[in-house]
Amino acid sequence: MVEKADILNTLHSVVKPHVQQDVGISGIVVRPDGSGGFKVGFALEVPASEAAHMEPMRQQCEAAVRRLPGVTQVTAVLTAQRVAGAAPPPPAPARPAEYNSQGLPFVNHVIAVASGKGGVGKSTVTANLAVALAKQGLRVGLLDADIYGPSMPMMFGLSGQPEIADEKLVPPLAHGVKVMSIGLLVGEEQAVVWRGAMVTKALRQMLAGVRWGSKESPLDVLLVDMPPGTGDIHLTLAQAVPLSGAVIVSTPQDVAVLDAVRCLAMFRKVSVPILGMVENMSGFTDATGVVHDIFGKGGAEKAAKEHDAPYLGAVPIAPELRVASDTGTPLSASQPDHAASRAFSDMAARLAASLSLKQAA
Ligand code: ADP
Repeated sequence: MVEKADILNTLHSVVKPHVQQDVGISGIVVRPDGSGGFKVGFALEVPASEAAHMEPMRQQCEAAVRRLPGVTQVTAVLTAQRVAGAAPPPPAPARPAEYNSQGLPFVNHVIAVASGKGGVGKSTVTANLAVALAKQGLRVGLLDADIYGPSMPMMFGLSGQPEIADEKLVPPLAHGVKVMSIGLLVGEEQAVVWRGAMVTKALRQMLAGVRWGSKESPLDVLLVDMPPGTGDIHLTLAQAVPLSGAVIVSTPQDVAVLDAVRCLAMFRKVSVPILGMVENMSGFTDATGVVHDIFGKGGAEKAAKEHDAPYLGAVPIAPELRVASDTGTPLSASQPDHAASRAFSDMAARLAASLSLKQAA
């Protein structure tokens, strides 16, 4: 296997003379070439004003990576996204189309939604964010990879085995979102006892064995609800498909934020860009309009700033969110005007903008 870290080191040595802060490296993908070697793809983000002069550097980068043992093909694309001298922008998901289609057919962006610890509302955020993205006119899928506690069947009111067409599972459409969950395949209790290799295999199957999109109707975005923490499944996902990035959910408490930062570091280590942090359970507004900061406030935003990651917004504590999830209709679908739903809608808009996704007018 060709290691992404080796590719990154090689690229840094080529890019250095070109003023490193003006050249961003993103979207490194490594795929088997079918005959024992590996194809590598990556994007070089350069300032628009410099793009015309950067072609020789692009070629040098390709040549340098091609010299790594095991690499047989290299595709580097130049993307004119940076503003000269500016801090790095949120990573753009520019990738050679060839790699996207090899990873997951007819899915434009795969986004992992993760958290450092359980119970912070990661699944609630994933479900509502998916509905909010769909409401903005995007074609959205949601893969419940939280093998140890699949909750999407309940949140979306789904039961029964999914249909199969042309040897692929057809994800049922609920509240505008195509949903697939291990809980639909084996029952929510059974999934919990799965371990190690079986989990990895199940995840691969749910990615490649599901008809997420078609040529006529590709998915704009597939959200993957990850298990909490930083385990094997995260690495499997990062290796199995080219991820456009990760969204990290935290509550405002220090301990939760600390774990969220660990999670952020893990994704960065495997070259997955952080698309944003979300602060959930951020304050409770009582009947008189007074806000109580039960778990504190602003911890995730502060951490995002400190770690140079975008901040997507805060979701208040709202009992209605839990009730909606427990009854099979995410709040963003049943009460789109609720303050929490509006927070998800704003987040969805930010996320879509950072991926340059077109939204319906
Ligand atoms: P995780 O996926 O991180 O384990 P869940 O999404 O399952 O967390 O949420 C844990 C519990 O907290 C659920 O009962 C959920 O309904 C509730 N919950 C999540 N976010 C909120 C919120 N903002 N306000 C009130 N309850 C919430």
